[in-house]
Amino acid sequence: MKGTLIFAVALAVAYALPTENQEKNDPERSGYRNHKLLSMTPTTKQQLKALEQVENDIEGSDFWIDPLLHHQAVFRISPDKFNDVMGILKNSGGHPNVLHEDVQEMMDTPEMQTQSRAAATQYIVDNSQYHSYATIQNYLNTFKSNYPSLVPDVGVAPHKTHDNRDVSYITLSTNGVSSTKQAIFIECGIHAREWISPAVCLYFIDRLLATYNSDSTATALLNQFDWVIIPEANPDGYEYTRSSTSNRLWRKNRRRFTTGNCNGYYGVDLNRNFDAMWGTTGVSSSCTSDTYPGTGAFSEPESRNIRDKVNEIKDRLSAFISIHSYSQMILTPYGFDSSKPSNTGHITAVSNAARDKLYNVHNKYFTVGTPGELLYHASGGSYDWSMVGAGVSFAVTYELRPAGSDWATGFRLPANQILPSGEEMWESISHIALNH
Ligand SMILES: [Zn+2]
Repeated sequence: MKGTLIFAVALAVAYALPTENQEKNDPERSGYRNHKLLSMTPTTKQQLKALEQVENDIEGSDFWIDPLLHHQAVFRISPDKFNDVMGILKNSGGHPNVLHEDVQEMMDTPEMQTQSRAAATQYIVDNSQYHSYATIQNYLNTFKSNYPSLVPDVGVAPHKTHDNRDVSYITLSTNGVSSTKQAIFIECGIHAREWISPAVCLYFIDRLLATYNSDSTATALLNQFDWVIIPEANPDGYEYTRSSTSNRLWRKNRRRFTTGNCNGYYGVDLNRNFDAMWGTTGVSSSCTSDTYPGTGAFSEPESRNIRDKVNEIKDRLSAFISIHSYSQMILTPYGFDSSKPSNTGHITAVSNAARDKLYNVHNKYFTVGTPGELLYHASGGSYDWSMVGAGVSFAVTYELRPAGSDWATGFRLPANQILPSGEEMWESISHIALNH
C-alpha cells in the first residue's frame, strides 16, 4: 500500500516537473494566464530605446503594435517578467499602462458576431467563419473543378513544412499553364495568428473567378494578368493557433530546435527569414523571441516555398503583395532600412490611391508609409526580398483590420468582418493591379 502510494507520488512528480526536453516557450501548458497586456507611448528616444530593449531582450515579450515615437505600442508580457519590464520602462521615464491583467481571459472570450452563412456566402466560399487549413485546400480544389478554364494549376510548393504539411498555391490565368502574361503574386497567412489574411485571400480568389466576364474589373484583372496566390503560407502555425485558445497568439512557424541554447524552443519569424538584409534590423537573436529570424536567410521551408514560386515567374512578375494584420496600414518598401527604391514616388502614389479606394467601401482608414516611417525597420521581409532579390518593381505589405488602437480585438477579428474586409481589399488590390 505504502509502496503504491510512493510510486503514485513519484509518478505525479515526474509528470509535474519539466523535463529537459519539454517545450520551453510553448504556451501550451498555461497559455497566457496572468500575462499582462501593456501599452506605452514613447515621447523620447530613451523611452523608445527601452521599448525596443523589451521587445528584443525580454524572453517571451510579444509586441502587437511595434514601438514608434509618439505612438502607442501594445505588448504582452509574462507574469515572471512583469516587474523587470516595468522597471526598464519606468527607468526610461515612460509610463507603461496595464490594458488587461489576464490575456488568457481575453483569448477565452469567444470571438463574437458571427454571421449567417447565407448572408456571408456570395459565391463559393463561406465567409461566415474562419476555416481550417484542410478546408482552405478543399476550396482551392473546388475552384479548379468549377472554373477549369481560369484555374490551370492548383498545386503544392516544393518544400514540406516541419509538421509535414504541403503548402498549396493556386494559379489563375486565361492562358493556361504556359501563359506568358504579366503576373501578380499574393502571399497570405505568413504570420499564424493573423487569421483575417487567408480569409481575405480566399475572398479575392472567389470573387475574381465568379465575376470574370460579368464584372468589368474582374474581367480586366484576369485579361491583363496571371495571378499566383498562396492563401496560407504557414499552415503549421495556423493550425497551432486553431488548436487551443492557449496557442491563439502564436506568430512564427513550428520549427523545433534540438541543440544548444535553443534546445526545446520553437519557431522562426518567417517574415524575417527572407534574404533582404537578413538579420540586420528589427530582429532578435534569441530563439525565444517572436522576431527570431532563423539561423540564416531561407532556413525555413515556408519562406523557401514563396521564394521558389516567385522565382518561377519572376521575369514576368510585376507586383508582389503580402497580407498581414493588424493596424490598418499599407507598408511601402523598404522595410529593412530607411533607403527607398528609385520608383518610391510611384509606389506611394498608387498606394495612396489604393488606400482611398479601400476607404470608400466601408470607411476604414489605412495609413500609407514605410515601416521605418510608421513602425520601425524590419529586415528579412518577403516584400523587400521580392524587389531586391527577385527584381519585382512594385511591392507592398497590407496590415488589415482592426485599427492599431483596437487592442481588445487585435488579431481576433470577429468573423462578421471577413466579408467587409474582403470587399474593401477587392477594391484596393484591383486598383494596385490596374495602375501599378
Ligand atoms: Zn504579420
